[in-house]
Amino acid sequence: MAPDGGLYLPDHLTPIDSGALDALRGRSFAKVSRVVAEHLLGAEFEPSDLDRMIRSAFDFDVPLVEIEDGIHVLELFHGPTLAFKDIGARFMAGLYTLLDRSDAPDRTILVATSGDTGSAVAHAFLHVPSVRTFILFPKDKVSPLQERQFTTLGGNVRALEVEGTFDDCQRLVKRAFTDEDLRERACITSANSINMGRLLPQIFCYVYAWTLLPPGSTPLFSVPSGNFGNLTAGLIARKLGVPARGFVAATNVNDTVPEYLDTGVVRPRPSTSTISNAMDVGDPSNLARMLFLYGGDVNRLREDVVGSANDDARTRQCIRDVYQRTGHVLDPHSAVGYLGIRAGLDAFGEGPTVLLSTAHPVKFRQTVKAEIGVPVPVPERLEGCLSAERLVTPMRPELTDLRKLLLS
Ligand SMILES: *Cc1c(COP(=O)(O)O)cnc(C)c1O
Repeated sequence: MAPDGGLYLPDHLTPIDSGALDALRGRSFAKVSRVVAEHLLGAEFEPSDLDRMIRSAFDFDVPLVEIEDGIHVLELFHGPTLAFKDIGARFMAGLYTLLDRSDAPDRTILVATSGDTGSAVAHAFLHVPSVRTFILFPKDKVSPLQERQFTTLGGNVRALEVEGTFDDCQRLVKRAFTDEDLRERACITSANSINMGRLLPQIFCYVYAWTLLPPGSTPLFSVPSGNFGNLTAGLIARKLGVPARGFVAATNVNDTVPEYLDTGVVRPRPSTSTISNAMDVGDPSNLARMLFLYGGDVNRLREDVVGSANDDARTRQCIRDVYQRTGHVLDPHSAVGYLGIRAGLDAFGEGPTVLLSTAHPVKFRQTVKAEIGVPVPVPERLEGCLSAERLVTPMRPELTDLRKLLLS
């Protein structure tokens, strides 16, 4: 967050020339990411450092699967915690290692989590030298599988089990950041989703998806959204020259952005719980960035983005229908994105469509199994953490307790 309370964005976005984009066809995700990262950050980092960092951050694939005629699913969930947040968290952790100077004090990464963010950030910073990571999570309120993913790591990752709610965790983190003495002595850094270091790598995903489509394609992108970092990255990719017919802002009933596109009025509100819980955001931070990219003009934004909101009943029905029709298993978040495709085709015309699929269905296996009627197999990677020892430090939701832990 900038000192005036606003959010950072690159101060200029120079398009990548179309020849250079075409030359990326057939390259790996890491290679495409390297070229786009150098375009954006080449003035700040040595190309060889970026290259090495990206190869180790993105050591997994991002497949594009055509599940129906013209509908391509971009699977962003093949990182270590099986959620798309791995992409942002691993790149950001990599940037910290590049910025690390030998004379800098050890950093403390502090995050509050209700599930996905904690596991992605913990995995990304595991074994990063001179960094300690503290994950605050509400006791008994995170799904067992998600909890296992950040409580069994050990090393430089500590899981703090707070006797309270997610809001208590977030409030504690905020208070730690405003406690200047603590912030300086413990050298606290955030890793939350407004961090530009997490947003940049999501741009690479859109470029990569485009390189996997037939030459000359101008796709529609349907993006399951909560805090709207992912969609903002898509709009930036378009400014960088990635051809796109348009974008769908696909949400669950937390529909602040679809409603805004409809009415022109922003009405932030408390979030409502849904089965696509990583998108339960009532006051999305990145709407400010989206608007800035369109000169603050909702009519201009409407030329590129259409809204679509669906409730849990429709989302469940969608998981069932898509499975019966195509055999493809969608998690609840991706299903919300799938439901947005119709609105996108109506607004921007027929043609190839890319659905950004943000979580592996196994992360929501109870919900998914209830709809498709068969269990989702657990990937080997997760089986390991399910049997590993759980290491947590219990704490009360008090700043004095957190201070003691951070300064010990
Ligand atoms: C975080 C998350 C989203 C929403 O992404 P935003 O960038 O916040 O819009 C969607 N799906 C899953 C699985 C997520 O973890």
